[in-house]
Amino acid sequence: MQNPARVAYPWGHQRRFNAYPQYFRKTFGERVQKVSVDAGFTCPNRDGTVGYGGCTFCDNRSFNPGYCDPKLSIREQIETGIRFHSKRYHNPSRHLAYFQAFTNTHAPLARLKELYNEALSVPGVIGLVVGTRPDCLDDEKLAYFQELARTYTVILEIGIESCYDASLKRMNRGHSFQQAVDVIHQAAELGLRVGTHIILGLPGETEAMQIEAARRLSKLPIDTVKFHQLQLIHGTAMLTDYERHPEDFTFDSFEDYCARLARIIEHLDPRIVIERFFSEAPPEYNATPIQWTLRNDQMLQKFEGYLDSVDTWQGRLT
Ligand code: SF4
Repeated sequence: MQNPARVAYPWGHQRRFNAYPQYFRKTFGERVQKVSVDAGFTCPNRDGTVGYGGCTFCDNRSFNPGYCDPKLSIREQIETGIRFHSKRYHNPSRHLAYFQAFTNTHAPLARLKELYNEALSVPGVIGLVVGTRPDCLDDEKLAYFQELARTYTVILEIGIESCYDASLKRMNRGHSFQQAVDVIHQAAELGLRVGTHIILGLPGETEAMQIEAARRLSKLPIDTVKFHQLQLIHGTAMLTDYERHPEDFTFDSFEDYCARLARIIEHLDPRIVIERFFSEAPPEYNATPIQWTLRNDQMLQKFEGYLDSVDTWQGRLT
């Protein structure tokens, strides 16, 4: 996993990519645990504000942790989450409330303030991570986040999903890449931290396009990125799309994905922290034709081993 012969990379440690845990430790001086919250939001791409039916890949149940229950209050969910993580991570004392499910800025500002303030009132919660869409952050909400960020840690997690409009259209995202670019610049100019999501392996996106996506991300003022391999989830429109046009989709073996990922992150600016490389839908939801059996931590370990074996690292070709 480490290369003792190499002088530290630009991110100051010897892992071959700018890794999230180290970034967090550098930023906060200790482990800060994210605790997921389902605040009962829907999203503008489901309720008709932007569209109906949602993004073709999306089934929020497949990535919402079991301890999140929108029937419980925000406080109860966070307290349950803190207890859940305490057992695994030796009682981290500081937490970020992670508003994860659906679009967590899709409500009037007064309602958002109530929800966020409830989260911030829980002892040990030092800030928010707010998952949202590029078209759901207006000037008023951004100004509010800017104000909140004077006292608390605030990270906006903006789903880009693809840097190509044809892909965004095919997956019924309801926004363009340029909308993501614009709002990311706006948030960054207000001093807000910005995280992003990207799906790798979308139909029609070649490896060259995915490498170009890494270059486009590198030009944005983002702090972090989460990469996910494409997974098909039972009952989603994307699974139907695959059944109708299997020739448009390519699903990698885990080994092939690692090799491609390595070639992609060689083009990603070293300043961008990588938070994830893999998604892990529960088996009962997962309809992907090639299924990987490894846990996230096992996949990460093997991927880092692969980076060692080919002696490459994030940003090598930037
Ligand atoms: S991915 Fe986000 S924006 Fe798309 S349907 Fe799901 S919750 Fe809505």
